[in-house]
Amino acid sequence: MAKKDYYQILGVNRNASAEEIKKAYRKMAMRHHPDRNHDDPEAEDKFKEASEAYSVLGNVEKRQIYDQYGVEGLRSRGGQDSGFFSDSIFSDFGDILGDLFGFSGSFSGGRQRRGPRKGNDLGLEVMLTLEESFLGVEKEIGVDRERNCDVCDGAGSEPGKSADVCSKCGGSGNVRMSQGFFSIATTCSSCQGRGRVIAHPCKTCRGQGRVRESKKIKVIFPAGIDAGNRLRVTGEGAGGSEGGSPGDLYVMVKIKADKYFQRHGNDLLFQLSITFSQAALGDHVSIKAFDGTEKIKIPAAAQNGQMLKIKNKGFRQVNRWSRGDLLIQINVMTPQTLSRQESELFKKLRELETGKDKTLFESERID
Ligand SMILES: [Zn+2]
Ligand SMILES: [Zn+2]
Repeated sequence: MAKKDYYQILGVNRNASAEEIKKAYRKMAMRHHPDRNHDDPEAEDKFKEASEAYSVLGNVEKRQIYDQYGVEGLRSRGGQDSGFFSDSIFSDFGDILGDLFGFSGSFSGGRQRRGPRKGNDLGLEVMLTLEESFLGVEKEIGVDRERNCDVCDGAGSEPGKSADVCSKCGGSGNVRMSQGFFSIATTCSSCQGRGRVIAHPCKTCRGQGRVRESKKIKVIFPAGIDAGNRLRVTGEGAGGSEGGSPGDLYVMVKIKADKYFQRHGNDLLFQLSITFSQAALGDHVSIKAFDGTEKIKIPAAAQNGQMLKIKNKGFRQVNRWSRGDLLIQINVMTPQTLSRQESELFKKLRELETGKDKTLFESERID
């Protein structure tokens, strides 16, 4: 960047009085004020430049430093002055304007954006059973949301009546505070920037233009959906305003633990409890899975913790053809009570086992 000459920027000579500098700055500021020069992209730069120049030359101490050492001299003093050289034009202006006029404001004036606005997205959680997530389910979900008032069509005024143009701001939503040579826009306090004042508020929405509604929405949860999955239901969020489209509804899936089944990835896991004799001899059993009865062949010499697999009977993968497996984990149960007959048989069994394979248990029985 070329060396800045603040005197040149303001169009004054080096021995100009403080009054002359102030006058020159006012002239520049009026000509290049961004609010007056929407079509000239250079105006903002020029305005910024003039303000920077004035921030230095308008201050006796800074002007002295600048005269002696130039911009570098100001920079090297850093600290308290560094803000003047930042690119944040609005914060700089705020400071300068505050100094000049004893109040602060922003140039955009806090005007509220008008025209169609999209409604907010909403989110909620839905708890499914493991079976529902396995098979897929359609559910009605209650949604509490905001939308435009039908009675006044979102305008906030009683039907047939229209809102009055705000007398304070003339409908612009901004109030200009004029102090001598230029003005700053601030949000109108009478209409909060809307530009209109509702004299006859709609009874349904009390002039808000918005109402709350509770609605039941059908949501389809596809087979295989998992905990933490999120479904988007397009257009079922909060209603838009002034013709804007509604937001979307996001449904977060939670899954309740099942008594018998668990999900492991895309596999469905079942804990099968069997007796000693079933484990030793093998057996055929059937279990009631979510999508029908499954016949299970327990092999002879089944071990505790052993896993059996029935292919393609697990969870469907959402939007895919493949399925996980049904896994059956064997749980060999020690009997908690024994009938006299069972007790006799176990004793006989024990006698047969003794001496047959001592190393199996690495212990000897003491009677
Ligand atoms: Zn209304
Ligand atoms: Zn107003």
